[in-house]
Amino acid sequence: TSTASIIDGKAFALGLRARIAELTADFAAEAGRAPGLAVVLVGEDPASAVYVRSKHKACVEAGMASFEHRLPADTSQVELLALVGTLNADDAVDGILVQLPLPAQIDENRIIAAIDPDKDVDGFHPVNAGRLATGLDGFVPCTPLGCLMLLKNRLGSLSGLDAVVIGRSNIVGKPMAALLTKESCTVTVAHSRTRDLPAVVRRADIVVAAVGRADMVKGDWIKPGATVIDVGINRVDGKLVGDVDFASVARVAGAITPVPGGVGPMTIAVLLRNTLVAAHRNAGVALAP
Ligand code: NDP
Repeated sequence: TSTASIIDGKAFALGLRARIAELTADFAAEAGRAPGLAVVLVGEDPASAVYVRSKHKACVEAGMASFEHRLPADTSQVELLALVGTLNADDAVDGILVQLPLPAQIDENRIIAAIDPDKDVDGFHPVNAGRLATGLDGFVPCTPLGCLMLLKNRLGSLSGLDAVVIGRSNIVGKPMAALLTKESCTVTVAHSRTRDLPAVVRRADIVVAAVGRADMVKGDWIKPGATVIDVGINRVDGKLVGDVDFASVARVAGAITPVPGGVGPMTIAVLLRNTLVAAHRNAGVALAP
């Protein structure tokens, strides 16, 4: 029985972060300041607190300035909008990230729409979604861009390949489908209303699972040799598992990302990359290719 190669997202992300640290030093030498990322956390959600802490640490390790804003859980929408306005106007801040989810009294869409699209390093602003959809330069959400980097590193050209994206969220599934379309894949977007999902997935040379259901994708859904990217983060009995049933899929696929250690580390590396790009654009400094 064949066994898939493991796509080591952790190692790839470390390499990317080292390269970003070099380019960050070059930027600081030329611009006279470090790239700056502002991260806003409202409330005490433990998972969000962990994400914010690792983003802060990654920023500092890359030589970037990290501005953390922790607001109480009862912060009003008006107060949060005021902070976003201050950060939009602050020249030391190149990227703004408001950690989601937000407490119920705050409309997430209103907050995302208030962020300057050219500081929207999460790529969630409708202007950036529109730029991605129409082929203009903008910010692309970190997780799907990280998935694309892993796919291109593994496969080279993706042109003509059949790709199935399971999930159609604004933060993963939809931008993933747009990126794969741009790479000239033939893209199918599957979701909770898809009929006969196993049959749809069986056609795919590339499978990206972004659902949030532990071990949903099974080995007998996979075309032999396919490349499988598992975005899912699910906690089962205190253990992290993906949306892909790793044991059965790894027997059929050509390559697969593990959970943890696959897509997860790429998300933060791409956040740093987007912040570096934002800093160059905002300072009018050219970025080395
Ligand atoms: P959402 O809940 O926003 O979207 C889930 C999608 O899955 C929806 O489009 C939904 O369909 C679809 N879906 C649900 N059930 C099924 C089913 N039975 N069959 C087929 N499709 C189904 O999730 P996100 O996109 O935000 O995240 C997806 C997963 O990725 C989560 O586990 C999340 O934790 C993880 N994640 C990981 C990141 C990382 O850094 N590695 C970053 C972001 C997310 P419908 O639209 O019809 O409801």
